[in-house]
Amino acid sequence: MGVKFMDCIFCKIIAGEIPSYKVYEDDNVFAFLDIAPVNVGHTLVIPKKHYENMEDISEEELCNLARVVKRIGKSIKEGLGVKGYNININNKEVAGQIVPHLHFHIIPREEGDGLKLWSQGKYNEGEAEKAVNKIKI
Ligand code: 5GP
Ligand code: ZN
Repeated sequence: MGVKFMDCIFCKIIAGEIPSYKVYEDDNVFAFLDIAPVNVGHTLVIPKKHYENMEDISEEELCNLARVVKRIGKSIKEGLGVKGYNININNKEVAGQIVPHLHFHIIPREEGDGLKLWSQGKYNEGEAEKAVNKIKI
């Protein structure tokens, strides 16, 4: 069930206070079209409970959300006739998160749509080893 945050735009969308094109809804999850789509059908999938980001949601609830993402991905692919899609979470402002209510982006992809996600670099000597030692669980 939804726990609403007063000033959260996505909580208002869930509550129907701001209109949206609803793609999916169940007791815990809501999905709707992004107002400024990267490509037609760009969908946002959100938990009804307000969590700011991935760090705040439980693993169990995240798994539940991911199950819906998978289903909507299939529906986007079949419904729009696209060959693939990107799934993305911008986690925190530094990563491009603008709306502080956790959301998956599902972005349908067209051949030659020109969307370039990120540029990649390479490791300097010893850098990968240092990084993996800091990260590994
Ligand atoms: P973020 O950068 O936080 O990962 O993405 C937020 C997304 O929410 C953006 O892609 C933006 O277009 C979308 N968005 C912001 N406000 C609204 C709104 O009022 N309605 C809908 N449908 N999408 C919104
Ligand atoms: Zn919210």
